[in-house]
Order: sequence, then C-alpha cells, then structure tokens
Amino acid sequence: MCGTEATDYNQVVSILPGLDLCTECIQYIDNARDAQLKNRESEGTDVSLKPADNPVRIPKPKEINAFLDQYVIGQDEAKKYLSVAVYNHYKRIAEATHRSSENDGDDQDVDIEKSNIVMVGPTGTGKTLLAKTIARLLDVPFTIVDATVLTEAGYVGEDIESLLTRLLQACDYDVERAQKGIVFIDEIDKIARKSDNPSITRDVSGEGVQQGLLKLLEGSVVLVPPQGGRKHPDQKMIPVDTKNILFICGGAFDGIERKIAGRLNHRMVGYGQDASKKKHERDNLMKYVQPQDLKSFGLIPEIIGRLPILTSLNPLDRDALRRILTEPRNAITRQYIRLFKLDGVQLEFTDDALDFIVDKAVEYKLGARGLRSIVETIMVDAMYEVPSSPVEKFIVDAAYAEKKLQEAHFADSVPTD
Ligand code: ADP
Repeated sequence: MCGTEATDYNQVVSILPGLDLCTECIQYIDNARDAQLKNRESEGTDVSLKPADNPVRIPKPKEINAFLDQYVIGQDEAKKYLSVAVYNHYKRIAEATHRSSENDGDDQDVDIEKSNIVMVGPTGTGKTLLAKTIARLLDVPFTIVDATVLTEAGYVGEDIESLLTRLLQACDYDVERAQKGIVFIDEIDKIARKSDNPSITRDVSGEGVQQGLLKLLEGSVVLVPPQGGRKHPDQKMIPVDTKNILFICGGAFDGIERKIAGRLNHRMVGYGQDASKKKHERDNLMKYVQPQDLKSFGLIPEIIGRLPILTSLNPLDRDALRRILTEPRNAITRQYIRLFKLDGVQLEFTDDALDFIVDKAVEYKLGARGLRSIVETIMVDAMYEVPSSPVEKFIVDAAYAEKKLQEAHFADSVPTD
C-alpha cells in the first residue's frame, strides 16, 4: 500500500491482496526496472579495456552525447568535444591503474596526457548546464567553482588551491577519488590579464592567479586547505596530486569577437550592411576562436597550452529558446505540468503562449535564463489559486500569459543596461 489517495489522474490499483499501488508508483517501479535491465544489457558490451581495469562501464562518446542531448539544446560541437574529453579521461584513469599493476605492452612509454577543455560562449548559452549534466552521468567526483573568487596568495579572496577543497568535499575527503575527479572552472575569462602586454605593475586578480592555476592544470602535488578559503599556518593541509584531475573551463570572453575579427582581418563594421546582418556575422565569428585569441584576450600562453581543447558555444536563437521551453527532460514547462499533475490538474501551454514567452525573452534580452523568470511570473497566480479550486484542466494561452505579465509589471522589473 503506497498510501496515495486515488484521483482522476492517479488511480490506485490492487496488485496483490494487501498491496495497493497508485499508477504513479507503478510507473516509477516500471522505470526503475527498465533502467536496471538497460544497465545489465550494457554491462555485457565491450569497451576496449580489460574488464579487470574497468569495473564500471565507461560510457562511450556517443552515449555521453546522447545523454547531453536530453538536457541541453543545440551546442553540438561543444557536446562532441566534451563527450570525447570525458571518455578519454576515464580511459586515462583506467590505463593508469592498469599500468601500475602490470607491465606488458610495447607502448609503455606512451603517456596519454590529459586534455583540459575551455568552452567559450556568451553567458546563458549552456556552459554550466553542460558541465552539470556531465556530472549527473559520471561516477567521479565533480565540482563547479567560480574563478572570480580566486586571488593570488596574500590578497583578499580565496587561495587557488581552494578550488580543490570543493572537489574533496564532493567525495567526503576521499583523496584517491578526488585525484580522478573533474573540476569545472566558471568565468575563467575574469582572470584574464587586463592587457596583452605583460605589465610591470602587479595584476592581483589576473596574471598572478593564472600562474597559480597553472600549477594545478599542469599536474603537481598541491596542499589543499580542508575547509577552503585562505590557508592559515596552523591548519593541516591535504596533499592532492592534480595529474589526473580533468579541468573544464568556461567563460563568456566578452569582446573576443573583436580579437577574432582582427585576426581574420575581418571588417566588423562595414558600410551598407544592415544591423541584423552585422549581428549575425558577429555571432558567427565565435566559432572561429583560436588559442591566439585567448592570448589576445589576456590569458597567458602557459595556461592556454594547458587547455588544449578549445570549443565554442553559439548564441541561442529564437528557435533554440522555444525548444528549451519544452524539450529538455527537465524543461521549465514540464516542471510546471508535473507540479500541477501532483494536484490532479492537467496543465497545458498553448503554442501561442510559448511563442509569446520566447518573444518576451528576446524583447527584454533575457536569453535562456529569462525564460524561467517569465514563466514563473505567469504561473504564480495559478499556482496559488488552482490547488484550492475544483478545476481539472488549466490552459495557459498567450492572452493569459500577457495579462499576468502586465499585472505583475514584469517589464519594470527587467534590468536595463
Ligand atoms: P552559462 O553559459 O552562462 O554557463 P547556463 O548553462 O548557466 O549558462 O544557462 C543558464 C540557464 O539557461 C540554464 O540553467 C538552462 O535552464 C538554460 N539554458 C541555457 N542554455 C541552454 C541550452 N543550450 N539548452 C537548454 N537549456 C539551456
């Protein structure tokens, strides 16, 4: 007996004498069983590594990509690069374990070096989402850290080693596991040097931090403060070897298009071009990003050398925003439909309502992040009223959405820049 009361949308079925389950619980059990069967099937498939080295099956790049597809719209290039990098990361780790236990190959002196990644793309296009989604799939410790909090030792802010504190925390201070983990460093562009020329004056938040980060990216044993923040003398440090830790960096690199255009000797501002064409051109430039553009932006060459995989994310167009509203597994509209279903209410968004929401996100330049705040504003009254009303079906159309945004003075709450 699962204890749920029957509603029109959730029937209670008697499975065996004394065992009554609601249809939602039955669905849940079905899904769990399917997942288990799938796991068993896949355990049998080959992964070019000896089973002894590979107690956990390594998801192949295409599988990782397919998983990402369920949550992230578009960004195919970044997905492909990430899938390959994560797959190789697993293989390196398996190989390292294998090599330390056996010594039988001709290619013993071939060291597979790790390939840290840097993702360049406008804010709100899915960089963190990609990293988080990868984390769902993996069974290695994973953490997301923000580069903006880091400063050079001796200055206000956090020591660079504190990046690894979070990783240690993610695996209950199991150092062995942390040493095989993945760290996503967000806003890497914020530690860029302010100019391309090495400056004689000290650049507290820029070059010094990059030098410190380099040590981590290269692979060395660093002393990590167990509680993060600043190291202090009487604190016991934890030595962590970063050789096998994969670093994925992300940043918007605002204005890098100009550096790319400069390198391509491209005329960004031309006569006789309309604004939309120029914008299109600017958006497209990002995909030509090269390591030297990161250098012009202010990353030191040594750091760039340690981030050999460089990939870009596209700005999201109307079509992508529209898909983001409904398609990902945990798309915002799906979340509301589920919430209402728990109250036995069937919620529906009409096509024109979805178009309207996208229009507003575009109009107010809110991007994908804005979709959530728009939908939340539209839905708050319904969320308040519906649970105490007898309605069984609730339809959100464009007229309703527009009315709710107006009533909430949504336009006034949008930051203008
Ligand atoms: P950033 O590139 O700044 O790291 P995020 O990944 O944090 O952006 O995206 C912000 C939010 O916008 C995400 O939580 C997600 O809801 C949505 N979003 C952004 N890009 C995508 C995408 N490509 N597919 C699906 N949702 C997206």
